[in-house]
Parts: sequence; C-alpha cells; structure tokens
Amino acid sequence: MADTKRDFWQTPAVEILRSRPGQSISDLDRNSTPGFTGDKSDGGRLLEERGADLSLLQEKLYANGRSGDKRSILLILQGMDTAGKGGMVRHVIGHVDPGGVDHASFGVPTPEEKRHHYLWRINKAFPRAGQLGVFDRSHYEDVLVVRVHDLVPEKVWSARYDEINQFEKELVDNGTTVVKVAMFVSMDEQRRRLQERLNRPDKHWKYNPADVTERKLWPAYQAAYQAVLDKTSTDYAPWYVIPSDRKWYSRIAVTELLIAAFEELDLHWPTADFDVETEKRRLAES
Ligand code: ADP
Repeated sequence: MADTKRDFWQTPAVEILRSRPGQSISDLDRNSTPGFTGDKSDGGRLLEERGADLSLLQEKLYANGRSGDKRSILLILQGMDTAGKGGMVRHVIGHVDPGGVDHASFGVPTPEEKRHHYLWRINKAFPRAGQLGVFDRSHYEDVLVVRVHDLVPEKVWSARYDEINQFEKELVDNGTTVVKVAMFVSMDEQRRRLQERLNRPDKHWKYNPADVTERKLWPAYQAAYQAVLDKTSTDYAPWYVIPSDRKWYSRIAVTELLIAAFEELDLHWPTADFDVETEKRRLAES
C-alpha cells in the first residue's frame, strides 16, 4: 500500500507549523492546511494510520520508563474556546494506551490554587517518567485570560514570560520534551461552533454564556496570544501554530508533531534483564 504520510505531507508539520520570529497571527489563514496536499477523507485515513504509529511509540516510551528511563513528553494545548482542544485529546491522544497518559486540565484556579504561586498547580501535574503528559490549557492562561482581564497588574503578568521560559528550561533539562500547540480558529468558525452547541441539546452542556462575552475581547486575546508566541517560543520549547478551522487538519498535524517528538528520543525496546532462553525452558517445564 502507498505510504500515505509521504504522499500527502509536502513539508513536514514540524517545519511548516513551527512559530517563526516576526510571524503575525493576524495574517494566519485559519482555514488553511499548511504542508498538506490531501483532503478531509485523506486526513481521516491518515489519522488512523499515524495514530497506530503514535501508539507504538508511546508504548516504547512507557516500556523504557519502566526500565529506568527518566524521559517524558508533554503536549501543551492552548486555544480559544471551541478551538478543539477536547477533540484533540479524544481523537489524537485517544489512540494511545490511557495508562501511559498523564492528563491535566486547568480551569479557573481553586481557592487553594489561588493561595499558591501560579506555577504550583502546573508543577504538580508534570508527566511522570515514561509518560505522555497532556495539558488542556496551562500556565499560559496566566498571561492570556489573566492579562486580558487585568486579573493582576501589568507589572506582574509582564514578568511571567521570562519566568515561564526559565521554568520550561528546567523541565526540558530534566528530560521532558515539550510540544507547545497553539490552536487558532477564526471568529466565524467559533460562532458556527457555538451555534451548534446551542442547536444541539446533547451539546448544551458545553455551552457557556461567558464564551459569547469573551468574543468581545477577541482582539485583546489575539494580542495576548501574539505576545506568547513572540516571547516564549524558544529553541528548547518552540510553539507550533495550528490553523484549526478544519478539525481533521489540526488533528493530523498534532499527531505528526507528537510522532516527531517521540522519534527524536530514538526509542528502542528495552532488553530483557533475564535470560530469555532459560525462561523459555523454565516455562515449558512448569
Ligand atoms: P473549558 O472551557 O476548557 O472546557 P473549564 O470550563 O474547566 O474548561 O475552564 C476553563 C476556563 O478557566 C477558561 O475560561 C479559562 O480562561 C479559565 N482559566 C484557566 N486558567 C485560569 C487562570 N489561571 N486564571 C483565570 N482563569 C483561568
């Protein structure tokens, strides 16, 4: 069978989606499919194929973690409401064994979290050795919603970019590969998705009237996202900018980013710490 991956990705996702210095998100076509020449049905097939590859890689990382390898991978998902963060977890991370996933989501800080430094709750949720960590929202909320709503003075939030870079540097130095994904939907697509939530009783639970209020702050959020990309895309923890009006595209793109991160780890199955032939004999005799 043809290798679908090679057929459809003209430029690898890790290259074409990596945040570039000076890149302006106001110019980003959120309905585009950078690097990918296929259509939605090609994307659907590819997601299954590459999801299986991802699953195997994750199992190798897990196996190595059981054998003392301290490394892990952390996927950080950021995006406006309806950008598709939840679907990313279900349709991409859903391909791998849930036992190997350390998932955390970050909402409005609890009273206990508020009593601590903003990185306290993040630190507690880091993936364990051998795990694939997933953050649905993250410490970046502390320079996004917090900045847009003036929840702390500018002097406080503006110091956080450097602090976050330092924090992530330590994380990477300790063996975690950080994959930061910023998902961008257009305002029109967000309206359509919110409309669908209103139209379907099975989606009412996802609808939050506050999301419509937030739409008024769209430009402020875009500016806050731009600042995040400008100030916190580093060599050791770069951002990837994902046009997300087409869910099928954002999902195959993030699958490729994760696969690339796993492949960088050059994982092999751990060698047995027992004599295989002896064990075969013992088993046969038992
Ligand atoms: P979602 O909307 O992703 O389904 P939740 O409803 O649990 O998840 O919570 C998300 C909300 O929490 C978002 O409005 C987000 O801006 C807010 N939030 C996350 N982190 C913070 C923070 N540090 N300070 C204030 N609000 C935050």
